[in-house]
Amino acid sequence: MKKSLVHKLCCPIDKSELDLQIFKQDEQGEITDGLFTCTHCKRYYPIIYGLPIMTPDEYREKSLEAPILQHWGLNPSPAEQTFLLEKNNS
Ligand SMILES: [Zn+2]
Repeated sequence: MKKSLVHKLCCPIDKSELDLQIFKQDEQGEITDGLFTCTHCKRYYPIIYGLPIMTPDEYREKSLEAPILQHWGLNPSPAEQTFLLEKNNS
């Protein structure tokens, strides 16, 4: 996704601002791998293959997202359909 679109996005649940971590960009500077985190509810919204996953909880596939987050070195909460990160103590 284009970086210019980043500031237009907000949390779909509470409309709060999002923090962005970028893990990978292509030659055009577009974000291919990244993670938005809501500053209010702390939900995460990954950017996978350039597409931000910003659907409401009930339409998300946690089992598909979790391995990708782990690949990025993040710790998704083990609770079902809970899109929060665990504190990483390592
Ligand atoms: Zn939120």
